[in-house]
Amino acid sequence: MVLESERHAGGTIVSEQVDGFVVEGGPDGFLAGEPELPDLAAELGIGDRLVDQQARGTALWNGTELAPLDEGRAAALLGIDASKSEIAAGFRSFSAGMAEPVAVLLERLSSKVKFAQGVSGLIPRKQGWHVAVTGGSVHEADAIVLALPAYTAGRLLEAAGASRARELAETPYLPSITVSLAYLDTQLSGPLKGAGFVVESPQHLRACTYASFKFPGRAPRGHVLLRAYLPPQDGDPAQIAHAQLAGILGIRGEPLWSRTYHWNRGLPRYRAQHAEQVADVRKRLRRLPPIEIAGAGYDGAGVSACVRSGREAARRLASTTRLSTVNPNSS
Ligand SMILES: Cc1cc2nc3c(=O)[nH]c(=O)nc-3n(C[C@H](O)[C@H](O)[C@H](O)COP(=O)(O)OP(=O)(O)OC[C@H]3O[C@@H](n4cnc5c(N)ncnc54)[C@H](O)[C@@H]3O)c2cc1C
Repeated sequence: MVLESERHAGGTIVSEQVDGFVVEGGPDGFLAGEPELPDLAAELGIGDRLVDQQARGTALWNGTELAPLDEGRAAALLGIDASKSEIAAGFRSFSAGMAEPVAVLLERLSSKVKFAQGVSGLIPRKQGWHVAVTGGSVHEADAIVLALPAYTAGRLLEAAGASRARELAETPYLPSITVSLAYLDTQLSGPLKGAGFVVESPQHLRACTYASFKFPGRAPRGHVLLRAYLPPQDGDPAQIAHAQLAGILGIRGEPLWSRTYHWNRGLPRYRAQHAEQVADVRKRLRRLPPIEIAGAGYDGAGVSACVRSGREAARRLASTTRLSTVNPNSS
């Protein structure tokens, strides 16, 4: 059973179809060298839905012009943790956006996914767990994969008896805003070069992806889709994003439409002792009925790392629960 606090699946992965555009609210791709999503796609029968990055190269807006930027440095400025050769291989995504595997997984699991079921408490039993849900209902579970952000999981685990799990809850998550804006290509003063740019000293705008140049099928013919990354600030993010992009890219007129996504706690930023802390919590979890943690808060923030983390958690859980079925007295 999957208990999901929201009324939709996918968490940070949000892909919307708007008037023939594919709009990404959260992640827009994954490193081409990472095997986890292609493997998952093959398993789900959607391997043919993968798309490769088209336009390549990121520029640097230095306040006056868009200057060429080394790909490794661009990745570092964007907080992408990858080697130069990994970046050089480019990114991939799905035809209908990053939520495509989410939709297929949901179809497969349908009756097992329960929406609007926010887990509020985990109570260890002699064997297994009581899982309390906001609103009062309780589920019984033999074993749990807790695939929640660290700030929620840490709190639940500490209350369940995993001492020091609260430290995990203090993992900082950085706020950000993404704004997708649609234009006619005639509104641009000329062709856009590369896949986007980053801003050298970001104040109102951190970066921009030329979404409809980066991946195929993101905008109908004759249209352009841009995605701006903004730090939290006062004012309407869509207006700020448009004003900044109009100045830098020479866009005439207003956008056809825009979509804003607020990520109050977006990407986790691991602190110095993060790996040791996670290992310590995992060790303490072994004293409880079968339970595992998985997701961006622990083993890497990218979607591929999350898939890997989830699979490993399930594998570990399957092996412990099998052992305890064979020998209920084993530790
Ligand atoms: C703006 C942005 C851009 C990004 N771009 C990229 C990118 O291009 N490529 C990439 O690889 N990664 C990218 N990332 C990172 C990546 O998208 C996320 O780190 C990853 O998707 C997080 O997955 P998760 O399952 O760990 O957490 P989440 O996506 O946060 O999922 C947690 C789920 O748990 C649910 N939940 C929370 N509390 C409870 C509760 N109490 N009970 C039940 N359910 C609960 C939530 O509703 C949610 O569905 C981006 C992130 C952001 C914010």
